[in-house]
Amino acid sequence: ATPTALLVGTGRGAQLGVLIKGPEILEQTRRVDTVVLDKTGTVTEGRMQVTDVLPAEGEDLDEAVRFAGAVEARSEHPIARAVVERARATVTTGGAPEPEAPRTGADGVEIGSDQVVDFRNDAGRGVVGVVRTAHQGIQVSRRVLVGRRTWLGEQDVDTAALDGVAQLAEREGSTVVLVAWAGKARAAIVLRDPIKETSAAAVGELRDLGLRPVLLTGDNETVARKVAREVGIDDVVAEVLPEDKVATVTRLQGEGRVVAMVGDGVNDAAALAQADLGLAMGTGTDVAIEAADITLVRGNLQSAGQAIRLSRRTLEIIK
Ligand code: ADP
Ligand code: MG
Repeated sequence: ATPTALLVGTGRGAQLGVLIKGPEILEQTRRVDTVVLDKTGTVTEGRMQVTDVLPAEGEDLDEAVRFAGAVEARSEHPIARAVVERARATVTTGGAPEPEAPRTGADGVEIGSDQVVDFRNDAGRGVVGVVRTAHQGIQVSRRVLVGRRTWLGEQDVDTAALDGVAQLAEREGSTVVLVAWAGKARAAIVLRDPIKETSAAAVGELRDLGLRPVLLTGDNETVARKVAREVGIDDVVAEVLPEDKVATVTRLQGEGRVVAMVGDGVNDAAALAQADLGLAMGTGTDVAIEAADITLVRGNLQSAGQAIRLSRRTLEIIK
């Protein structure tokens, strides 16, 4: 391989919005036969929206949203952003702000980190924090959890009151997290994340290149299957904890596959590094971009196919 020809390839890549870390990376694309795609933010927009909040019987919807928002304000996760947005809307327009709340701005009760102590983020599972509010002049502290059902179960939360509605919403392709305190799930938050317009075409192009697509996600199996079906992917690995994403790549490699991985999240970084070829969405986190070999600047999955096609073509020219 002449270094000059390889550099031409990387220059053309820059024009297409494909940033290749070094010319040597082009070589790695040749044998790739499998492409693992992260769901949230890669195949989907990664912009979750709360479509519904379903309180358990006897629970106050606005209260559940407000407490969830207070804790989620400390997280950067797409789910957290959506919950905070909903909480802000609820507090400013709907539920009357408590006059004796510790921080009351012009737009009502502040949904902010300063009301929350002992915050913890369990990556791929959920968040927990102690929310302090004033209730009729008395300081009330509540340990609020927001996260996936199975995780809440492990934290000794009784989810029975909401298991049914959560499963129903999941069956319809939604992501569901539960809000809980004092040992009980209080409300189910239903979220949707639209599939990117370009994803189905992008998957088709990857297939045309002879690559087998695999959808990988921490989200629930039903949502994952639905997204996979809509973009034309048969292989789904769902409900994977962040630390196990890399294990999925390793397992595929153990089966003799040469794996490209496309991702955007902090959770994807280890898998991107482990993959034979790591591609990060330019719209994603810095950690993912650093771990990857290639950055898809436009955050468009179609650039993945272009990157691989370009690499192969460049290699052919120099052979
Ligand atoms: P993905 O692989 O789709 O990017 P993650 O691994 O980030 O998903 O998260 C997996 C699951 O963990 C989510 O679907 C959700 O149930 C739960 N979760 C993660 N972070 C949070 C959060 N900040 N608030 C509530 N739930 C969360
Ligand atoms: Mg993601």
